[in-house]
Amino acid sequence: MIHPATRLKELETRARRRFGQNFLVSTEAVDRIVSAAGLTPQDHALEIGPGLGVLTERIRQTGADLRCIEIDRDLAAALRELWPDLVLIEADAMHVDLDATCPGPGWKVIANLPYNVATPLLLRFLARPDIFSTMVLMFQREVGERIQAGPSHPSRGSLSVQVQARARVRPVLSLPPGAFHPAPKVHSVVLGFELLAEPDFGGVSARVFDRVVRMGFQHRRKTLLNSLGSGLMRGDAQAACDRAGIDSRRRAETLDLPEWRRLAAAVEAGRVASAAADGPPESEL
Ligand code: SAM
Repeated sequence: MIHPATRLKELETRARRRFGQNFLVSTEAVDRIVSAAGLTPQDHALEIGPGLGVLTERIRQTGADLRCIEIDRDLAAALRELWPDLVLIEADAMHVDLDATCPGPGWKVIANLPYNVATPLLLRFLARPDIFSTMVLMFQREVGERIQAGPSHPSRGSLSVQVQARARVRPVLSLPPGAFHPAPKVHSVVLGFELLAEPDFGGVSARVFDRVVRMGFQHRRKTLLNSLGSGLMRGDAQAACDRAGIDSRRRAETLDLPEWRRLAAAVEAGRVASAAADGPPESEL
């Protein structure tokens, strides 16, 4: 594997901070990331941010059908020169049309992305289990901890619950700053995600579920009653906790996934009941 510093020199360019470019220097890390996706020649793979192409080269060796999305025009040009047959979309992965880019189900995603893009992209892609089945993504270590944190873990937050409701998550690899060029200031972790084909949100929509979870975690050190009470009427918040069979004096971080499902369903049931009690709008009478 050519060292990224050497390759950048060849291309007469340098790592761009605005695109969060920290290139992998370790062959072992590249192998472990790609093998975590379990690619076969029958698979469709999407790589986001191929950069200088170290993961790309390894993915190509698996024989999987590969598409790549790269935002940096110069690196995209260099990749095209290296592999004229590579299907490469020059775009921002946060804005590409996912249906057009990845037609059909079962796509496997591999990405070492800038830390500020990794989390929004994770949430965007987790919303599409009809397209994606597996993802192997790099995060800043602390974000990785938050994503994996179970009930009562100090890092447990709304991101933990939102992700765990949609996918099985497993750690793949931890990497020190020296595994990249240039070295970032933080440690990194690679996580694997198996998307649930039909996530269980307790019978409510994903939007309602996420809203209740975010409301619950709004004030971390407060009780559920106080956190939910700032988004709902206090009486409604207490009634929702009662209906869900959850002590309203508990804190959001102590709830497990089944409890979040019950709470989301209870909040929604309360909202539906109070809308019915108000009667239909006058125009419908
Ligand atoms: N995959 C290479 C590696 O592991 O060495 C490069 C990783 S580097 C951390 C991130 C790559 O993602 C860069 O090539 C960067 O230009 C690209 N990138 C950054 N933001 C992006 C976005 N929003 N959409 C697509 N690519 C992006």
